[in-house]
Amino acid sequence: MNKPSNQSKDDRAIDLTLRPTTWDEYVGQEKIKGNLKIILEAAKKRGESADHLLFSGPAGLGKTTLAYLVARELGGMVKTTSGPALEKAGDLAAVLTNLNPGEILFIDEAHRINPMIEEVLYPAMESRKLHLVVGKGPSARTLSLDLPPFTLVAATTRENLLSNPLRSRFGATLRLGYYDAEDIKKIIDRSARILGVTVAPEAIAILARASRGTPRIANRLLKRARDFAEVHGAETVDAEAARKTLEMLDMDEAGLEPQDRRLLMTIIEKFNGGPVGVNTLAAALSEDRGVIEDIYEPYLMTLGFLQRSSAGRIVLPAAYRHLKIKGKEELL
Ligand code: ADP
Repeated sequence: MNKPSNQSKDDRAIDLTLRPTTWDEYVGQEKIKGNLKIILEAAKKRGESADHLLFSGPAGLGKTTLAYLVARELGGMVKTTSGPALEKAGDLAAVLTNLNPGEILFIDEAHRINPMIEEVLYPAMESRKLHLVVGKGPSARTLSLDLPPFTLVAATTRENLLSNPLRSRFGATLRLGYYDAEDIKKIIDRSARILGVTVAPEAIAILARASRGTPRIANRLLKRARDFAEVHGAETVDAEAARKTLEMLDMDEAGLEPQDRRLLMTIIEKFNGGPVGVNTLAAALSEDRGVIEDIYEPYLMTLGFLQRSSAGRIVLPAAYRHLKIKGKEELL
């Protein structure tokens, strides 16, 4: 499964080609767009930089794209970095002192910012001050620098891992959810036009259903389907090409990958369908608990395949039907 940190080079290239550059091109997430426009409008009226913003939600839903749209609206540029790229306090100090007035600083994977570095971020966010410790031991001094007005836009796939002091310093937190099928179809349609590929409506529907409500996956599937059609000398991506593409990628028609099926099958076979505690499940799958909670489960819950209860995880009837296996009651 694609985690944000191991997004492939190919994916990044597709992202760049297909990234919307206007609010109109940015499909769906209407409430978030509405909220953002109000925040940005107010900042423009006051003639100030906008409040610092936090975008949270699964990978590939459009957080980076939104950061660029925000910058465009404010007429500024974007400097980007990420939590893991900031290894020392000095790395962040260098980024901050290089900002031009009105610029956006985009920090991806904000939950991976080292706590020592966070300390540098707080005064920068609150009062545009950079406190640097110069020298060591008794002769160490703190140097205070003024920073230009800027807006920090941070993105995270795991909001619960963000420290409270950091979280509380954002003016607004905007949570992106999975896209519905109609929006994903629109995204595939737009991308197909940009890539110059004809896709039959039935093929769009098949690819959309397997896209896990995620624009990045939708674009990746479209590109693979186009490759498939091209190799087979077809000018149009038809339903057959779409189905074969999913087969090649080991995805089923609902977008489940082998890891998702393994998770469901483990609960069904080893824990009688649940409830099973997440730690026990993580041990049975040899998987990190956080990955299960933040990467696998959200989509399975959206499909109505899995339920999180206080007693643990339970596989729901829809998942049994999808996997074509008999439910607990029928097995009795
Ligand atoms: P994230 O930062 O949340 O991982 P990105 O902003 O990089 O996601 O989006 C991944 C790709 O998906 C973008 O390059 C863009 O092509 C597409 N995309 C994301 N959101 C939308 C949207 N609302 N409308 C159209 N395309 C989108």
